[in-house]
Amino acid sequence: MRCPFCDEQDTKVIDSRLVADGDQVRRRRQCQACEERFTTFESAELVMPKLIKSDGTRVPFDEQKLTSGIQRALEKRPVSVESIEASIHRIQASLRATGERELKSRIVGELVMDELRKLDQVAYVRFASVYRQFQDIEEFSQEIDRMRHDVPEHGNPSLDTDQTDTPALNRLASQSEPAT
Ligand SMILES: [Zn+2]
Repeated sequence: MRCPFCDEQDTKVIDSRLVADGDQVRRRRQCQACEERFTTFESAELVMPKLIKSDGTRVPFDEQKLTSGIQRALEKRPVSVESIEASIHRIQASLRATGERELKSRIVGELVMDELRKLDQVAYVRFASVYRQFQDIEEFSQEIDRMRHDVPEHGNPSLDTDQTDTPALNRLASQSEPAT
């Protein structure tokens, strides 16, 4: 690395340590020519891909929007703040891990659904019922069927009782199950 004092190319690392909980490496360097010392910090490049909306426009990733969407789905649900934060962290890590500079925005929705499915089934259905309206309604119906069959006891009580804010789900559920 070039010396910031004299522009000499040849500088030497004289000390190296992890800082910021291991997220950064701090290095002390010394110029071989002028013997000045300076410090560099190395950290992973944390660039979030831009999101491509369905109309083709590109928007920056918005962590606040992601967080509020997840919190809305989890409103009054017994899920810890720590679990929610970990989920949000995983979603962002997945987006970064793609290494892409642009991603279709629906990928974020899919990641949110994956996380909510693990956190809380009611929250998952709340989110999915809103989100899937703009996607494939048939696919959502199949997903609800699949979830019903996944639940060990008969049906999922939360699916049957929580009717206040999932009208799309209730409509689908009544279509997808024959009356008994
Ligand atoms: Zn120098």
